[in-house]
Amino acid sequence: MVKRNPHFAKLQSGYLFPEINKRKQAYLKMHPEAKILNLGIGDTTLPLDPHIAQRLQKHSFEMSTIEGYLGYGPEQGQSELRQKIASVLYSGRVHSEEVFVSDGAKCDIGRLQLLFGPDATMAVQDPAYPVYVDTSIMVGQPEIMYMPCNPENNFFPDLEQIKRTDLIYFCSPNNPTGAISTHEQLEKLIAFAKKNRSILIFDSAYSAYISDPSLPKSIYEIPGAREVAIEVGSFSKMAGFTGLRLGWVVIPEELRFEDQTSVRKDWERIHTTFFNGASCIVQKAGLAVLENEGLQFIQRMIESYMSNAEYLAENLRQLGITTYGGDNAPYIWVYFGKSSSWELFDTLLTKAQIIATPGIGFGSEGEGFLRFSAFAQRSHIEEAVQRLKELPLEVATA
Ligand code: PLP
Repeated sequence: MVKRNPHFAKLQSGYLFPEINKRKQAYLKMHPEAKILNLGIGDTTLPLDPHIAQRLQKHSFEMSTIEGYLGYGPEQGQSELRQKIASVLYSGRVHSEEVFVSDGAKCDIGRLQLLFGPDATMAVQDPAYPVYVDTSIMVGQPEIMYMPCNPENNFFPDLEQIKRTDLIYFCSPNNPTGAISTHEQLEKLIAFAKKNRSILIFDSAYSAYISDPSLPKSIYEIPGAREVAIEVGSFSKMAGFTGLRLGWVVIPEELRFEDQTSVRKDWERIHTTFFNGASCIVQKAGLAVLENEGLQFIQRMIESYMSNAEYLAENLRQLGITTYGGDNAPYIWVYFGKSSSWELFDTLLTKAQIIATPGIGFGSEGEGFLRFSAFAQRSHIEEAVQRLKELPLEVATA
């Protein structure tokens, strides 16, 4: 018999979303007529722009012609797309050879663990997107330092309390809290990483949701970031590509290991060994996103999701419920207090047939919170608000 990888026994049983689904199915079994409103959704719901869909169609068809057929492309991504990401999304702050196109940020976060191996220590925001911690556990990294982020510290960790680690994972706009770090906060983070000779892995999957020009969309807007930071980006929430799959990693040339070897070079080795390039058709669609027409579409799409966030947050506050986020970020972090996240989840499911994501699923600091998502359909959000208004207030503000 083959021995199980021992690190897998350390993973928390039942990943968050399967557990949510299990409870939903159990409820539906007893109440098959129930109309459940899913406000927990972290997936985009609005359709693609025809400009982008037409590009997919055009290149799919070209694949049926001898001239237009494409096989393997460069593993690092089509050079036109790498250039466009560098110029449009980073205003030239990064070079196209520092951009590695992929099938999405989640896969990149997993592959990044290979770059540092099983001995690296890491720090992570608590609460956080669960993939940082789970992939670290899977590769057997010895120590995870949790950085509490809560209303008391304005969702930015008290760095003086944080021990040195090799890696620091940081996500802004944040999933799940919806918090966005300011220039000043990110300057502190860069200084902290520099002092400790750590590498910062900055997840900017939601950066397109930042409309306030005073807030940084990329870590490379912060002086000194090129020497300490890797950035992970994604077309998923920016352009509705969750099903199409397209993302990227930026590793600046200046980033070095202790022995002064290039991190970018090792990443190139990993990327070209483990990955054979994102779909050539999807990359062409990515290019369409970054053209004027595509950029106008994503602007409208984001405004529509953000109007959901505003409506939901405003109505929750009117009900006397404490909310965070939902401004420049598509998630609203809602504090109901007293009850546990799973109790709150069950209460909303059974009393109002509403699903929100239990905060505890993102880390211990998420206890007592639920994450509401602006990606839900508008009609569902409006109906959910109506149902919450009809709930006895002690349930809503337990
Ligand atoms: N990073 C964060 C913070 C996310 O919330 C998600 C998806 O929900 C991802 C990365 C994954 O993005 P992708 O669809 O590009 O794999």
